[in-house]
Amino acid sequence: MNKPTVAIVGRPNVGKSTIFNRIVGERISIVEDIPGVTRDRIYSSADWLNHEFNLIDTGGIDIGDEPFLEQIRQQAEIAIDEADVIIFLTNGREGVTAADEQVAKILYKTKKPVVLAVNKVDNPDMRDMIYDFYSLGFGEPFPISGSHGLGLGDLLDEAARNFPEPSEEEIEDDVIRFSLIGRPNVGKSSLVNVFLGEERVIVSDIAGTTRDAIDSDFISDGQKYKVIDTAGMRKKGKVYESTEKYSVLRALRAIERSDVVLVVLNGEEGIREQDKRIAGYAHEAGKGIIIVVNKWDAVEKDEKTMNRMTENIRDNFQFLDYAPIVFVSAKTRQRVFQILDTVKRVSENHALRIQSSILNEVIEDAVAMNPAPSDKGRKLRIYYMTQVQVKPPTFVVFVNDPEIMHFSYERFLQNKLRESFGFEGTPIRLLTRKRS
Ligand code: GDP
Ligand code: GDP
Repeated sequence: MNKPTVAIVGRPNVGKSTIFNRIVGERISIVEDIPGVTRDRIYSSADWLNHEFNLIDTGGIDIGDEPFLEQIRQQAEIAIDEADVIIFLTNGREGVTAADEQVAKILYKTKKPVVLAVNKVDNPDMRDMIYDFYSLGFGEPFPISGSHGLGLGDLLDEAARNFPEPSEEEIEDDVIRFSLIGRPNVGKSSLVNVFLGEERVIVSDIAGTTRDAIDSDFISDGQKYKVIDTAGMRKKGKVYESTEKYSVLRALRAIERSDVVLVVLNGEEGIREQDKRIAGYAHEAGKGIIIVVNKWDAVEKDEKTMNRMTENIRDNFQFLDYAPIVFVSAKTRQRVFQILDTVKRVSENHALRIQSSILNEVIEDAVAMNPAPSDKGRKLRIYYMTQVQVKPPTFVVFVNDPEIMHFSYERFLQNKLRESFGFEGTPIRLLTRKRS
């Protein structure tokens, strides 16, 4: 579950985004496109042979108007904070520059493994270019070519050799892991503080504190929970913590490690474009989702206000029609603990496994009631359905010809699954395959 993370650092134009795209390749999302979600190309999952990992292109995190050297310094610090292994990228055609030395100086401060790569070594004759780079002090440089895809195998082998041992938390399956995401100041930390029953979340900022240590564990009603840290929830202080790209990165990383994601809105301010983008990430990741409207104490209300807000949310977040909505106040604690009951329920739905026999009864009934339409004279035959995965529940329906499965009929089958089994709070996925 906890995949290792690799970050690419280096001054501009050495080829970071080229390498990132090479390694990540074309990843196809199996969920429909959501308006407003621009695919973030600074962070992605990737795999190399048997290794799965996450990759960050720190070059894509721009730190406002800071001067050039300050930008690369902070990008290197982000890599140190976020990564398990750092790829330090340089340009063989230009040799070692002062900016490379700056990056090196910052990377000396970390104990995390750094793998030095020299890019733009486009053919074997150019390998002599790498010797200069021993002077940076990170051992043997790996010659690569991003544009030609050369040397990446050796580089990633070396990165993988340095991956940490899998941590123990992977075996705690009785813990529900959740995160709170949302714009700054919607009340995420305040809500966490209520859960933890403390005045504030105390976080140690000692060097070497791993990122897992800033997650918080607690028990409520006999159930164990882990709240995953996101940007701005730990001690603020680093300049880059307030940049938009960095908070998106932190949110994506928190989402990935969660079973359930709370999308927190500010009831006082209503819905903003950024809220939709953030919610889109959680939906895309296939996590359980709850919409939490906070600061409800500060809203002037009559008996219709809650309904109006609900309608407004449903209008704006049509792709989250399965997500329950909870109206709370971190300040007065009104209904805050109802969030946890909902988290528990949603996490059960997210991990729900339906027996094949029951599943097929439902599907047979559905097909009998509403037979699949023919397309260009061909008739779709539905043979059977099986659940292939949980978190989120994923179903495969076997048919005679997937090409004539219409989107609207897929939707109909999905709705039948929801009608029969609930799945409140969790996305479900339906894949169509040819019966072989
Ligand atoms: P970044 O600023 O570090 O992300 O660098 P980019 O990935 O944007 O690359 C900067 C420039 O170098 C682009 O024009 C790339 O096409 C070029 N480039 C990247 N990798 C290679 C390579 O392996 N060989 C050559 N010759 N050019 C490359
Ligand atoms: P975060 O940036 O999302 O973690 O937001 P914080 O938890 O730091 O809260 C931002 C501000 O909103 C603080 O001044 C809080 O005191 C205030 N706040 C948080 N929750 C509530 C609430 O339920 N009602 C009211 N009136 N204020 C709140």
